[in-house]
This record gives sequence, C-alpha cells and structure tokens, in this order.
Amino acid sequence: MSLHRADAAAVAEAAALLRAGRLVAFPTETVYGLGADAKNGEAVAAVFEAKGRPSFNPLIVHLADTAAAEEIVAFTGPARALAAAFWPGPLTLVLPRRAGCPVSLLAGAGLETLAVRVPDHPVALALIGAAGCPVAAPSANASGAVSPTEAAHVEASLGDAVAMILDGGRCAVGVESTVLDMTGPRPAILRPGGITAERIEAVAGTLADHRAGDGAAPSSPGMLARHYATRTPLRMNATSAGTDEALLAFGRDVLRGAGATLNLSPAGELREAAANLFAMMRALDDAGCTRIAAMPIPDEGLGRAINDRLRRAAHD
Ligand code: AMP
Ligand code: MG
Repeated sequence: MSLHRADAAAVAEAAALLRAGRLVAFPTETVYGLGADAKNGEAVAAVFEAKGRPSFNPLIVHLADTAAAEEIVAFTGPARALAAAFWPGPLTLVLPRRAGCPVSLLAGAGLETLAVRVPDHPVALALIGAAGCPVAAPSANASGAVSPTEAAHVEASLGDAVAMILDGGRCAVGVESTVLDMTGPRPAILRPGGITAERIEAVAGTLADHRAGDGAAPSSPGMLARHYATRTPLRMNATSAGTDEALLAFGRDVLRGAGATLNLSPAGELREAAANLFAMMRALDDAGCTRIAAMPIPDEGLGRAINDRLRRAAHD
C-alpha cells in the first residue's frame, strides 16, 4: 500500500491499478471510498474481504457522469430530475439494473437493483474517468470502524489491503450520501445523508413515509436492502446430493449424483467463490430442481459472508 498526493501522475497510476483489478482508496466529498472495478467480480470480492464484514452489503457504484450511469441502470423521469439537480453530489439513487448490465452481481449483493452516484470531488471524477469503468466503493474503513474523512484514517484502518491511497485532503461533507430507493411508486430514503428529504421532495415530489406504514416504503425498517435469496429451497453443508438437487459445489472434491452442478471455485479460493456466488445461485435456481444443495464453505474470511448469504437463503 502506498499513500500518494492526488496529482495527475498518481491519479493515472491509480486508474491503471483499478483496471488491473486492484483496490484504490480515493477521496469523495462525503468520505474516502475503497474502490474496485465494478465489472470485475474478484476485485469486488477483494473489497468485501478488505472491509472484513461477515456479510455482503450492496455497494454504491460511482460513475463519472449521468450518461455513464444511464448505461448500467434504467432511469425514470424523477430519477433523471434528481440527477440533474444533485449530481455530482451526495445523493445515491437505487435503480433497476439494465439488461446486460456489466456490473458484477456481487457489487449489488445479488439484487436486481444497483445504487449509483456521481461524486462531487475532482480527484474521484478524474480517477473514475481515467479508469473508464464503473467503480464500486463502500467507505474505506474496516467493518465497525468510523467512516474515514482523511487519507490517514484509511491507512490506519485498511493498510495492506489497498494497493494505493490517493490523498486529496479532508472530505468536505464528512457524512455519507443520502440513499434513495427509486424503484417504488414514490422515492424512499433508505439512508439519510448529505442531501435532505426537503430538497429531494422539492424536485421529485412527496417521499414514501415508512413511519405511516406506507405501502410505497421499503418493508425493512432497518433500512437495509432486501437480501437476494433463491426461490428454490436450499440446504447447506451437503455431503451428498440427489438427482433432484442442484449442487452448488466448492473445491476439487465435487459430490456426484446431482441433477445439475456449478462449482463456485474448483481451486477452493474464496475470492473466486464470492465473485461467482450470486450468478451461480441464480443459475441453479433456474435449473428446475426441487432443492439446491450447497457444499461446505470454510467459515473464514469471505467464507463467512458466503455462508451468511447461504444461511439466509436456507431459512427463508
Ligand atoms: P456505503 O457503501 O457504506 O456507503 O453504504 C451503502 C449503502 O447503500 C448501504 O446502506 C446499502 O445498504 C445501500 N445500498 C446499496 N445498494 C443498494 C441497493 N441495490 N438497494 C438498496 N440499498 C442499497
Ligand atoms: Mg459505510
């Protein structure tokens, strides 16, 4: 890891690192982000690994401008008005992925939606522009630590997991972006942040009110995204597989006898497994079997987040 003053040469180097699948921490107007090429599943998996969270939270995908956002998600009229009013800026819009969207399913934790925003910081915009790819980035701190508003915070919290830290001084806003769900009949705030409800309502009309039990509001009062789960029942830690079962395998010693099989990582690598998890869960869900049987995954590092997601699917 190396901390660099964010001059043109450092930004170019950081962009090349992103394109090569490495992680780069960079300043935005809200907090420092831990960025990866959003199209590269293993790079996105490395972000979750670096954060050390025992579960997959969908990440915000950062773009250089609205046109780049329109390439990956489907905008509505109100979403376009909000983007025109507040981008670049601390507003994140949750919108449906477009068909053929190249962003890794892991970046959105398997959901059909993606959270997108254009940050209002010259270093962030220069980096994303130079990288030429959507950049998935949560706050650049280890899970449970406070969000970093200075490059030194990132260095202290994440250290070696990051290939490069671009030092752009202290973040101006210091609070995170407002996350707005634009997929319902009315916009709904999933996380309060830098843009207030009043300013949003002035542009996009009345917000859904979850306190009133409003049907247009997100069902989870914890304001977290719903989690992706399969329709097909799933069982974990399978040590055998039936012909009516779709097998989610891991490692070299694949169980025999399943009706369909996909291997998260023949080499037994957790990063590869995380990168494949949601696409393979979807494919096995569509395989027409009565159950999905998942082989044991080591419960360490990214394996904890993989097991967390399998456990939720098993209990739903
Ligand atoms: P952070 O990366 O720390 O700024 O947090 C990102 C926030 O955006 C979290 O609260 C996520 O739950 C939320 N988020 C990201 N993607 C989605 C999505 N597709 N649907 C709903 N919420 C999302
Ligand atoms: Mg955070």
